[in-house]
Amino acid sequence: MERALMEKKKNNPIAKELRTPKYKSQVIPNKKKTYFEDFHDKMVEEKELLNISMKEAIRQKKERKMKEPYTIIHTKEFSCEDDHPLVYYVVNEKGEGMCDYCAKRFKYEEKKEERTPSEKLQDELEPI
Ligand SMILES: [Zn+2]
Repeated sequence: MERALMEKKKNNPIAKELRTPKYKSQVIPNKKKTYFEDFHDKMVEEKELLNISMKEAIRQKKERKMKEPYTIIHTKEFSCEDDHPLVYYVVNEKGEGMCDYCAKRFKYEEKKEERTPSEKLQDELEPI
């Protein structure tokens, strides 16, 4: 008797419809991942823009400094601390150097040595 009733319910079209879900739950694949990927892409983009503007600022600064005259130095090693940490450099084979931080240019010039009295006398006697 009970079995017959269950069988009857099973075959009842209305009951069957009620059992069948109208909306299947949808799985949106990797929605979270996509969001973070977007975020990551935006960050990379922003970083790149920042990088470009920083490079441009440095380039402009160097360009400005290039128009300025050299700072004459009398040692091949020199240091610079113009609005940046103290750094040491050595001039190149041409005797020129530039600070990587502030693009300040340096030129090495041999220091005129003190002439001894006899050399001075010689200079006076044989002017070049
Ligand atoms: Zn400098």
